[in-house]
Amino acid sequence: MTATTPGLAEPPTTPEVPDGRRSPRVVVVGGGPGGYEAALVARRAGADVTLVERQGLGGATVLTDVVPSKTLIATAEWMTIADRAPELGIRSLGQHADSPASGHQVLLDQVNERVVRLARAQSADIRTRLVDEGVDVVDGTGRLDGPQCVVITPSDGEAPERRCDADVVLLATGSTPRTLPEAEPDGERILTWTQLYGLDTLPERLIVVGSGVTGAEFAGAYRSLGSEVVLISSRDRVLPGEDADAAQVIEDVFRDRGMVVKGQSRAVSARRTATGVEVTLEGGEVVTGSHCLMAVGSVPSTQGIGLVEAGVRLTERGHVDVDRVSRTSVRGVYAAGDCTGVLPLASVAAMQGRIAMAHALGDAVVPLDLETVAANIFTAPEIATVGASQASLEESGVRYVSTSLALARNPRAKMLGIKDGFVKIFAHATTGIVLGGVVVAPRAGELIFPLTLAVSHRLTADDVAQSFTVYPSLSGSIAEVARVLHQRRA
Ligand SMILES: Cc1cc2nc3c(=O)[nH]c(=O)nc-3n(C[C@H](O)[C@H](O)[C@H](O)COP(=O)(O)OP(=O)(O)OC[C@H]3O[C@@H](n4cnc5c(N)ncnc54)[C@H](O)[C@@H]3O)c2cc1C
Repeated sequence: MTATTPGLAEPPTTPEVPDGRRSPRVVVVGGGPGGYEAALVARRAGADVTLVERQGLGGATVLTDVVPSKTLIATAEWMTIADRAPELGIRSLGQHADSPASGHQVLLDQVNERVVRLARAQSADIRTRLVDEGVDVVDGTGRLDGPQCVVITPSDGEAPERRCDADVVLLATGSTPRTLPEAEPDGERILTWTQLYGLDTLPERLIVVGSGVTGAEFAGAYRSLGSEVVLISSRDRVLPGEDADAAQVIEDVFRDRGMVVKGQSRAVSARRTATGVEVTLEGGEVVTGSHCLMAVGSVPSTQGIGLVEAGVRLTERGHVDVDRVSRTSVRGVYAAGDCTGVLPLASVAAMQGRIAMAHALGDAVVPLDLETVAANIFTAPEIATVGASQASLEESGVRYVSTSLALARNPRAKMLGIKDGFVKIFAHATTGIVLGGVVVAPRAGELIFPLTLAVSHRLTADDVAQSFTVYPSLSGSIAEVARVLHQRRA
């Protein structure tokens, strides 16, 4: 039923109960998607569930990471669309110095007020749902006292510690922004992404350190909102882990929009000055700006909560070591989400949590399959990917064919004034089964779904090619790429 990784624990035995009627007791530490989804699954399976969360329900996902960033980006997206207005025959009545491109001005205090309101409302919805379903939600910090007990220190600081015995523990403690000792965030000028929503006015000149997904998304968004942006990338190009063609499109778009992209530049320190910030690069160059966003990765929240003492094995980078059914090295202790370092996506965290509960509580289990994960980078245009990447196919030696078509030739794209982007599909050279795909387009995160279906259900490029698409539509390019693949394989 499950893939077993040597050294990881067997599933817990059914709890020994004298009267044979007690429900299994599940304690979930962390209320992000890795934790709260699992809590709901466990309740539905009849378990007694306690969930402890120290910050707010929904976790970093809802309160500081996904929901706030995507809400901010929704405003930035509107500004990007407005930039195309003149080409579509729309004249703006009045230009503003702050955002000369679109003739619209962003009121960051109002944008951020909306961001925070939306995040809090979603967090409240999650709490209501959990409580309605019968989950015992505790505001506090949890730590293991051995594998079968979670000790909770309540957040209010007044109530006494509470000990929760558990048949099953799920660790879903997430991660926090990584900081550099020489660039400690002060929350005003030097910021992590969790601190951006306290800004009242748009940064005049924002230096973004780090060109991974988080850095690229914020750099693009603030440029569209009207800030000058300098993006410091330690690699040759932005988005080093992504499809190279897609990353190149984004870098070109960034530069076209006036962003300064400094490749091969490692920031060694950031310090506040009387009027702003100075970021010093390796080699001595100093970049000045009004604000600096540190986007240099995350650190798993796995220290000081009794994991090692309970026998839970951590990886060298401090993540909880799990297998594909979310088991740790200790029987009955599972882990899900960013604390495992498997793949830092909210969707993967939730899936790991659901799988953990299915395994622990005796339901049918399908081990985690990263080959079918769809992901999106919310730049403008967006980069959506599913399945195998070109790099992974090259590495594995699978025989594959691939075709890519620029969106600029798509009739709907022309009508909408869209110039940048493409659709790329990888298919097995012999069987034609779709192995993966990349879509670079506005709302690519929505457009990728047909390819996700193809990858998940092992459809061939011909299956995709033979399906109707609306004319004119951006998704027409997906079918067109599949038709070209048919000719290439013929
Ligand atoms: C800026 C940004 C944007 C992102 N955008 C996307 C996106 O668009 N789509 C996507 O899929 N992913 C996105 N991600 C990744 C996504 O945020 C994470 O993969 C996701 O949050 C992981 O969920 P989780 O449940 O593991 O952790 P979290 O959501 O971080 O939740 C963990 C919770 O555990 C709590 N906790 C920790 N320790 C304890 C303890 N000892 N006791 C009690 N509670 C504890 C924390 O307070 C936290 O609330 C983004 C990440 C960042 C940084």
